[in-house]
Amino acid sequence: MTSPLSLSLASLKRQEGERITWENTCESPGIIGHDVLHVPDKAPLDISLSLSSVSEGVYVQGTVRAPLIGQCSRCLKPLEEEHTYDIAELVFYPERHAALIEEGDEDAEDAPVICDDHIDLEPLIRDAISLALPFQPLCREDCAGLCPECGEPLEELPDDHAHEAPYNPQFDALAGLEAQLREAQ
Ligand SMILES: [Zn+2]
Ligand SMILES: [Zn+2]
Repeated sequence: MTSPLSLSLASLKRQEGERITWENTCESPGIIGHDVLHVPDKAPLDISLSLSSVSEGVYVQGTVRAPLIGQCSRCLKPLEEEHTYDIAELVFYPERHAALIEEGDEDAEDAPVICDDHIDLEPLIRDAISLALPFQPLCREDCAGLCPECGEPLEELPDDHAHEAPYNPQFDALAGLEAQLREAQ
C-alpha cells in the first residue's frame, strides 16, 4: 500500500534540469506540532510542489497550507489558524546518499533519500511545519494575558479592574502583636 504522501518519480526524468509539478490535498498523517499549537490528525494539507532533477537527487520546493488549533499561551483563548509553510529540501538518490555517508558526511545521515523511485513527503512536511511553529503562540502580538489575582482575561475586564490586597492571616497576627505592644507601653 502506498501512502498518499509517497510521491512517485516515474514521470520525472533523471536528467539535470528536468522538472515536474505536483499538487494535492492530503490528510495530515497524525498530529504535527505540540500541545499548544498543532495541525490536527487527518486535517487537510494543501500541498503544492515543484520537483527538479539535480546531480545529487531531487530538489523539492514549494508550500504546504495547513489548519492549526491550539491555545494562546498568555490568555488561554482557543486558537484556530491557517498558515502556509515553505518546503525546500534536497532528497538524495540512494547511491549518492550512500557515497556521502562513506565519505564521512555526518549531515547526510539525517537527509531524506529517494526509495524505490518514490519520495516520502511526510518528514519534509513535518519539518516544514513543526520547525516554524512558535513555542508560545499568542492570540495577538499584544495579548494582555490574565489577571494574576482572579485569572480572568484582562481584555474582558474593565480598565479599572483591581483587587483588594489579598487577605493574609499573618497581618492579623501582626496587628494583634502591635496592639499588645501599645497596651504594654
Ligand atoms: Zn491571548
Ligand atoms: Zn482580577
